[in-house]
Amino acid sequence: MRKPHRAEAPRPSRRGAKAGRVAVLSTGTELLRGRSTDTNLASIARALETIGLEVSYHATAPDDLDRLVEEIRLASARAEIVILTGGLGPTEDDFTRRAAAEAYGRELVFRPSAWNAIRSRFRRFRIPMAAINRRQAFLPRGARILPNPNGSAPGFVVESAGRFFFALPGPPREMVPMLQRQVLPRLAAAIGGKPRFKLWEARVFGMPEGTVDEIVRHVVARRPGASYGLTVSGGTVNITLRVERGSPLPMVRALRRKLGLFLVGPKSLEETVGDLLLRRGKTIALAESCTGGLISHKLTNVAGISAALLEACVCYSNRSKISRLGVPAPTIRRHGAVSAEVAAAMAEGAARTAGADVGVAVTGIAGPSGGSKKKPVGLAWHAVHYRGRTRAERGVFPGDRMAIKERAAHFALDLVRRALSE
Ligand code: ATP
Ligand code: MG
Repeated sequence: MRKPHRAEAPRPSRRGAKAGRVAVLSTGTELLRGRSTDTNLASIARALETIGLEVSYHATAPDDLDRLVEEIRLASARAEIVILTGGLGPTEDDFTRRAAAEAYGRELVFRPSAWNAIRSRFRRFRIPMAAINRRQAFLPRGARILPNPNGSAPGFVVESAGRFFFALPGPPREMVPMLQRQVLPRLAAAIGGKPRFKLWEARVFGMPEGTVDEIVRHVVARRPGASYGLTVSGGTVNITLRVERGSPLPMVRALRRKLGLFLVGPKSLEETVGDLLLRRGKTIALAESCTGGLISHKLTNVAGISAALLEACVCYSNRSKISRLGVPAPTIRRHGAVSAEVAAAMAEGAARTAGADVGVAVTGIAGPSGGSKKKPVGLAWHAVHYRGRTRAERGVFPGDRMAIKERAAHFALDLVRRALSE
């Protein structure tokens, strides 16, 4: 055994998990080199919020035994709950089991039940076993095995004096289900009682971040124990309201009133549009040019959308806009393919040819070339046809091709949302 590491951190609380401090350790040299991105930290932090816990410390350790032992000791000195991800595989650079054993002064012991689970998984998928796979069945003495339904590496938890050390596999598709089904329920039971805070989350579309900030700040001001945060992505502003005491409802009501139709709600634009279509029993057809099927991709991510989405056409060329959607050739000649008139004709054509209640269209210039002074890169015309009315709206978006496509897709979805909400 190595000499204990002298951490300058405060001693863990005697109240154990009830003190509520959580440290997350990510492991993997590839994370430090930027070869993979640490999504596990975000997934863990978001999941913990649902039971009222917050991450108070995070570190990323390379695949190095000594460094890992050091980080585990430091994390355990700073928090009563430590959640580590990665390094549970069978290869030489997977150190988590050994590091945990060393950090907590426990030896590694062979666990037949873990070994059986690993072997039966290999048999089921007819994967040849290697001798090194046996390593995965050695866990620190006293650890409880956390079964991994989506991979070979079992996780484990070491619990002592109300404090926890969780080791979960690195791949997110293995880690997240184990977090949800095995870690959260254990922690919720351990912390007991009520969550330490309540959250309310919502998205706003079409309003600049600064304006949203002013509105939310005004509503949250002088409410004791209330705070908020804003994040922005693809033109959407996400609000997270947090209250330590009482209910967020009065603030939520005030925000609803002030944000009006700009407030999308708790779900994404596509989910909100999907819900509205299904609730109203309406069908939809899409005609996409510069978004290249992105709106269709987003909508088809919504479960149950087959009851509403009839068809989507990527009508990239003028010829396709004319032959498939019936856009009049003179309209294109007179106004250009990126214009209110063509967007409107595309939306009407989409609804008519598919026999849908709602027709949506986007036509724009995603760049980097093809722009002009009158029609710059990032310009897009969006149109919605619904109940015999067609509305076209212009947007000019910053960023590269992908960013412009994303923004235009969101803008079009928001037009549909507004049309269906009226
Ligand atoms: P394996 O048995 O697959 O080796 P493992 O538990 O040993 O699993 P690692 O070897 O540390 O995990 O990581 C395997 C892969 O999982 C990495 O290459 C990376 O793609 C992904 N991964 C690891 N840690 C993270 C993280 N914090 N966020 C997102 N992805 C991660
Ligand atoms: Mg590995």
